[in-house]
Amino acid sequence: MKTLFLIADGMGDWPIDALDGKTPLQAARTPHMDALARRGAMGLCRTVPEGMPPGSDVANMSLLGFDPAHLHTGRGPIEAAAQGIDAGPDDLIWRLNVVTLDGLHPGDHMRDYSSGHIATAESHKLIHRLQAELGDDRFRFVPGIQYRHLLIEKNGAKGPGATTDIRPPHDITDQPVDKDLESFAGYPELFELVRKAADILNGEDNPTKANSIWPWGQGRPLHLPDFAATFGCKGAVVTAVDLVRGLGKAAGMATPEVVDVTGLLDTNYEGKVEAALDFLTSGGDFVFVHLEAPDECGHAGNIADKIESIERFDARVVAPIVAALGAEARYLIACDHLTPIAIRTHASDPVPFLYAGPDTLEEKTGVVFNEAACTASGLVLETGHELLPWVLAR
Ligand SMILES: [Zn+2]
Repeated sequence: MKTLFLIADGMGDWPIDALDGKTPLQAARTPHMDALARRGAMGLCRTVPEGMPPGSDVANMSLLGFDPAHLHTGRGPIEAAAQGIDAGPDDLIWRLNVVTLDGLHPGDHMRDYSSGHIATAESHKLIHRLQAELGDDRFRFVPGIQYRHLLIEKNGAKGPGATTDIRPPHDITDQPVDKDLESFAGYPELFELVRKAADILNGEDNPTKANSIWPWGQGRPLHLPDFAATFGCKGAVVTAVDLVRGLGKAAGMATPEVVDVTGLLDTNYEGKVEAALDFLTSGGDFVFVHLEAPDECGHAGNIADKIESIERFDARVVAPIVAALGAEARYLIACDHLTPIAIRTHASDPVPFLYAGPDTLEEKTGVVFNEAACTASGLVLETGHELLPWVLAR
């Protein structure tokens, strides 16, 4: 039987005054998800284990059936897996942003985690230069996409630990970096590298907005169990996002490339749907289709766009997939975590989910898919990585 996980990143939300107490999912027109809800089952699932940060990496790992509490090593390692970068078992893989900072002294602020959404060609020049001037047996700069790169530290020590670690730069826009400077003190050689990089990037010959590097999200290389061996089905991940692709690759899943996917409202929905259906018709059993846009709209605090992104998910992902596969397939619709408009970042609340399959064909009336309906159902899966086996067992 074919199984589809259709994941709208950050879709879940809290009631919003400007929407008369509705959430964006309640305010959005979602006739196709509501049709599945009329015959399906709804519930809540805790995708972020107690004590872990509510990142997309952690939450999507849960949705893919793997326990982040045991298998998650950091964000850098997942992105390295996405790029197929080799690292030794004792290496530390850092995610590396090129950023715009006031400077590296107490009271200085993080201004832009993306260096003005720097173009890949521009950032590659910078990363290649940093590798040429600062790369050595200890540190290796690996270019990625736009502002997102990697730094591999040979036999890196794990440092003072997650509670004092360097914060993701997108979480501290226009905030002072004092706390992070304290964390950098736990990694003196790394901080020396950061200071030297800032000297180079602040030179007059750098025309970009990038004036510093920002290593974070470090961990040992990621090893996930093989998806097919673990769950007995051949799976694929369709996504615009490296982080989610990396999880799929690490689990030995197919990760078909789709052209013109952007991770934003204007993404290539039809291309993603086609890639998912192609995989299923060529012998695949399971596809995880991931749509990033609702999360981006949540971070932007844009209510209208978040509603629009949910309506497009319903009309251009859910509708054509259900039309193609009908009542014979199993569907799971969920988000990885909430990205509430009120806080413009991720929340750790359990996520709403909707399941419909050949075992749920009886139609009910007056049922719609939203956070309140999922909460009212009383079904709560407290262990996120048990959701996928729960679906496969039905
Ligand atoms: Zn996410």
